[in-house]
Amino acid sequence: MDNILPFDRRHLWHPYTSTTDPLPVYPVESASGVRIKLAGGRELIDGMSSWWAAIHGYNHPVLNKAAADQLAKMSHVMFGGFTHEPAVRLAETLLQITPPPFSKVFFADTGSVAVEVAVKMALQFWHAKKRPERNKLLTVRGGYHGDTFGAMSVCDPVSGMHAAFTGMLPPQFFAAMPRCRFGEEWNESDFTDMREKLYKNKNEIAAVILEPVVQGAGGMRFYSPVYLQRLRELCDETDTLLIFDEIATGFGRTGTLFAMEHAGVCPDILCLGKALSGGYLTLSAVLTTDATAETISLPETGGPMSSARVLRHGPTFMANPLACAVAKASVDLLLASDWRKRIYCIENILRETLSPAKDFPSVADVRCLGAIGVIEMNEPVDVAAFQKRCVEKGVWIRPFGKLVYLTPPYIIAENDLRYLAETAVQLLFF
Ligand code: PMP
Repeated sequence: MDNILPFDRRHLWHPYTSTTDPLPVYPVESASGVRIKLAGGRELIDGMSSWWAAIHGYNHPVLNKAAADQLAKMSHVMFGGFTHEPAVRLAETLLQITPPPFSKVFFADTGSVAVEVAVKMALQFWHAKKRPERNKLLTVRGGYHGDTFGAMSVCDPVSGMHAAFTGMLPPQFFAAMPRCRFGEEWNESDFTDMREKLYKNKNEIAAVILEPVVQGAGGMRFYSPVYLQRLRELCDETDTLLIFDEIATGFGRTGTLFAMEHAGVCPDILCLGKALSGGYLTLSAVLTTDATAETISLPETGGPMSSARVLRHGPTFMANPLACAVAKASVDLLLASDWRKRIYCIENILRETLSPAKDFPSVADVRCLGAIGVIEMNEPVDVAAFQKRCVEKGVWIRPFGKLVYLTPPYIIAENDLRYLAETAVQLLFF
């Protein structure tokens, strides 16, 4: 491989880094299983699943075949006026593996766009019910829902991007972050602020949106599923829509197929993404119920949105056949595997190997849930220095802020996982 770094450094933006003084990047030649091969031959054990997505590892023969077979037929065709087997088969499977109330599937292209679509569904729902003043969202602090404007408006107002876009983001309501941790005894006071905020403002609120059980990029916190049970009851009492963003947690990551299963509750609108396509292609899905969809489609009788019977969204690459075919293969592969057992084993190994970090004064907390292991430091980690040492040791870990976390592919072998986690601890403290 030619040295691509000078051009990259001069001309390409990378996520969340300066363009004049960017964090270092490492050229990747190929990836297979849980190993990422850098130019020059060095191999890294993947601790990130490319941001929660590559659950089966890389270059998987089954997913490759699904992509190649679909490529030989068509990689894309517009979804306006056409339909195709990959979209229909994938939607069928998604409706089979999610709770019965879900009956409608909207395919979008990224997680952030799925959140935008979910928000549009909620707003159009209240518009159709002749309650257009119910046009705000209520969420919890500490959340993260993506980088587009609607999604940013419900990210944590302090750690999110609100300050950078003052005046541009629709104002929303924020309740206190859930404090009662996963596995801890439930404390009713944890829900007081949410209850008060929703009751006080229910005539303005279209929907409550949050990440069930795991707050991901907003801080990697695991909270009590009882919060979601209370929230479902409260949304029913106040006739408010409930949106779960399972973009990070979906498809097994927390030990159940979907995080909402920890609570045994079902939202009105569900966002899926990331692992949906096994990390191969960008694809997301928004699921909703007949009741919600039928309201959105109620005939309009005049007013400014006089043709509001349609959901006002329809991206160019909607239901991309290549992405849908790979996603269908990925979900089938997951369901056919012993994923529950694997994730249980990953959780145990992560707990065992990361726990010693608790003893260091620079550590605020260590926590594990499913195939997620987190070391929270007291101070931000020097990403460039830490990653350089990781690469030297043959592992791939990307910290953010004070968090060093592992979300490995589910197929990772026990010895690789132990090496990965032990290396993380060793590099942080020795
Ligand atoms: N919601 C959650 C919970 C996420 O973790 C993310 C991505 N980190 C998104 C939405 C946005 O997804 P995307 O990056 O695919 O737009």
